[in-house]
Amino acid sequence: MSSEIIGHDKELALLHAQVAQNTLHHAVLLYGPQGIGKRLIAKNIAQHIFCNATDKHGACNTCPACSLFLSENCPDFHLIDCTDKEMASTAGVRELLYSLHLKTYGNQNRVVVFCDAEHLRPQAANALLKSLEEPREGTYFLLTTSNRSQLLPTILSRCQCWGLKELSTENIMAIARDKLPEIDAEVLKSIALLADGSVENIDHLEQHLSEWKNISSSIRHICQGNILSALEMIENLPREKEELAGVLQLMRMSARAEMKKNPSARIAYLLSELTLADYYIFSRNLSPAYLLGHIFTNVARGDTRAPSIAEIAA
Ligand SMILES: [Zn+2]
Repeated sequence: MSSEIIGHDKELALLHAQVAQNTLHHAVLLYGPQGIGKRLIAKNIAQHIFCNATDKHGACNTCPACSLFLSENCPDFHLIDCTDKEMASTAGVRELLYSLHLKTYGNQNRVVVFCDAEHLRPQAANALLKSLEEPREGTYFLLTTSNRSQLLPTILSRCQCWGLKELSTENIMAIARDKLPEIDAEVLKSIALLADGSVENIDHLEQHLSEWKNISSSIRHICQGNILSALEMIENLPREKEELAGVLQLMRMSARAEMKKNPSARIAYLLSELTLADYYIFSRNLSPAYLLGHIFTNVARGDTRAPSIAEIAA
């Protein structure tokens, strides 16, 4: 992911102003789609909290506190990736929260970031809740999530919640241009459209450039009624699980982009079925060739009233 924050100008300006005025809430939750830069924003706000300068627009990047932060050696800053079982172990989180009662190393401020906080285990989440309920001066908790409904309601109620939107196509274009300088403007435009507001999708596309071109042209042909393309697509499905998951992601991205360009009942059916496919293939172990065969032949035939794979699997 790019180290520069792109987009979210309004929210950033407000958060930085609060840091500068010393009115930032002690618990802030940043929520929004995956891959839009929530972690970067949390780190950026944290750096500003430590910064010795008094700029209301953000950290100065040059003072000793900023240098320490940027060198990733700031002892009063902690970032927990909650998807990392070891880093976010219940014992580890408890120990960290306990250590917040001890004296700070630097300027009295302390920041703890919990990324993807919905993955915290129940006991760790309860320990965090206790800390949120007893705010200590100079201690800030910044939480991020792309799944707000999975957080404990009690944690939500203690946080000031900031909703961040998906990135605009222009923002995504700028990031894609930065990441893929050798690619021509027309292709960049399709990538930006396909990436659907998420930088993670650009990374995925970057690794599978030639694949997605084939997949998106097949999807277009299938939607135009080409049964042969549907059969070819099924025949060429990868057998290996991880690879198949990647191809399914490319199919969904292509279908979403097609939906934006040429919306139709066929593409709407395809998109809603592809969204279900992951679950039935990977969690219920149903045959991908069977499920996707059903979906693609129905789309090619224009039979958008055919039963959903959810009904077939029941
Ligand atoms: Zn600074």
